[in-house]
Amino acid sequence: METIEQLRKALPRYPEVRETLELYIALLEARARANPPPPPPLPPGVAEGGLARGEPLLDAVTLMPDWSDLARVFSQICAVAAAHRPAEADTFHALAGMADDLEKLREVVAEHLANTAHPARRSASAATREATLLDFALNQALHPFLNAYTRAWQPLVNAETWYRSWCPICGGPADMAALLPGGGARRLLCARCDAEWQAPRGACPFCGETTPGRLAYTASEDGVYRLYTCDTCRRYLKTIDLRERAHPVHLPAERVLTVGMDLMAISSGYQSV
Ligand SMILES: [Zn+2]
Ligand SMILES: [Zn+2]
Repeated sequence: METIEQLRKALPRYPEVRETLELYIALLEARARANPPPPPPLPPGVAEGGLARGEPLLDAVTLMPDWSDLARVFSQICAVAAAHRPAEADTFHALAGMADDLEKLREVVAEHLANTAHPARRSASAATREATLLDFALNQALHPFLNAYTRAWQPLVNAETWYRSWCPICGGPADMAALLPGGGARRLLCARCDAEWQAPRGACPFCGETTPGRLAYTASEDGVYRLYTCDTCRRYLKTIDLRERAHPVHLPAERVLTVGMDLMAISSGYQSV
């Protein structure tokens, strides 16, 4: 519940993104009603070997949500999104119909996980508006089920066992980051499961570009936030600079509070993950 509480607390201080915060609070309420089964234990040695080869831990086992519970959460997510985004309500209502056919739902979940993996591990990319909204709804609905694995397995991951740009738990890309106090190491937040891990700071976290002229960042006026951009893959990474801050932040809440940076990046021609 921590992210919801952070967003509720932030609501009066962020009037300019009120609608987005209200949408995410409602989405988080729907997500909190999921009952993900506990993840299976990893066979001995599998975690260490997989991580050393750059394989996310979920590669070693099959994602096994309770499909009817996932279907229920998915249709609630679609209803919430339709209520908060009237212009797209018809599409979300139509997408909700997928929850009635569990076989179809399994298919679209498999496609979604392949399409929204880290770009280095992605099989295809979807482009239509409907596909984008479907990925949005599935990302929200799958979150509690993927995050159950993250909570169980995150202790296996540290900067010695994993120092790569994709998520060590599910293989997803990052959609938020922090520069840590001390040396300013880059900590990434997975867009799909909220795992957090450290990754190289001098490379684009999506395509691996390291040429300084291709990478840039713009800092906010108060110096707290940075928008990192890559002119090779045209993607961006929102980052909060914690080097001068005394108190810790909650990255999943920061992801929502910084929606203005997403709009700025997209209007400058960069794309989100
Ligand atoms: Zn992940
Ligand atoms: Zn790049």
